[in-house]
Amino acid sequence: MNVSLNNSTKKLCVIGDPISHSKSPLIHNTMINAKGLNYLYLCQPVPRGQVAQWLELAKFGGYAGFNATMPHKEELVPLMDELSADAKLYGAVNTVCIKDGKAFGHNTDGAGFLRALEEEGHSAQGARVMILGAGGAAKAVALKLAEAGATSVTICNRTLEKSQALCALDQWGVLQPALFTPQVLTEVASHSDLLINCTSLGMEGVGGQFQDFGFLAALPQEAVVCDLIYNPKRTQLLQQAKALGHPTFNGMGMLIHQAILALELFTDEVLDPEVMAPKVRDALQNPPPEK
Ligand code: NAP
Repeated sequence: MNVSLNNSTKKLCVIGDPISHSKSPLIHNTMINAKGLNYLYLCQPVPRGQVAQWLELAKFGGYAGFNATMPHKEELVPLMDELSADAKLYGAVNTVCIKDGKAFGHNTDGAGFLRALEEEGHSAQGARVMILGAGGAAKAVALKLAEAGATSVTICNRTLEKSQALCALDQWGVLQPALFTPQVLTEVASHSDLLINCTSLGMEGVGGQFQDFGFLAALPQEAVVCDLIYNPKRTQLLQQAKALGHPTFNGMGMLIHQAILALELFTDEVLDPEVMAPKVRDALQNPPPEK
């Protein structure tokens, strides 16, 4: 990492609790270096419940902005001076730009996923989408795919009330709630072109795993399978789908593209994703040694 600092260097950071595992500093500092920007991106632990105090500190402490992850994304919403359309719709903020003491809240998760999908050579237009999960990630992905022209977006979730609440945000008339049972998953899969796992099932260290992958056998042969999880790189879901011949991709692209979009908002610079994404992938594969 070759970040050079001077008295005009602007500060950025990611906040969360926990946050020490975050890849955001490596991702952003890689792009900052590549573009020759005078910014420094740090990792800032902010305990649950203290995001309002943090925001005041950030506003007067010389920060140009920050990214937010769990558990702060929702709590930031009422604290913003202005919200982007996506942040308002998702009820969550992952990118805060600070200008003249005012906080502007954005959410780049949905747009980041859409770019990742397109980077993989797939389109949302006309797709019949099956989403597993109804949490924050599912909300951003489902609503962005609906906006981008998906024909249907079925939200299969263990807690049906949460999929119903997500579907209540539908402005395009394509979202529908469904249960997360083997029978329902199989039925929905049989008429889906794109399946996206937005649950934490399969994530390293979390421990939960799918009971069975029988629903994959019902997918049409050309259907694409995506897992938002990127650690491990290939979840059991992706391994099983690949073994059945489906095109697959993980959540690394979403992680990278939401960050590119966030850095554009922080800096008002245009970043070429075709230049930046490979540099970030390379940095993530070959991280600098820990000091
Ligand atoms: P969240 O808001 O906590 O939602 C978690 C979802 O997983 C809920 O729908 C929950 O269902 C479901 N779930 C958890 N355990 C389950 C189980 N045992 N059986 C069935 N469903 C279960 O989390 P999130 O922020 O949306 O994140 C979800 C996943 O996306 C995580 O793995 C996260 O790492 C990943 N993610 C990736 C990116 C990226 O850039 N690639 C960005 C954001 C998130 P209930 O509603 O029934 O509890």
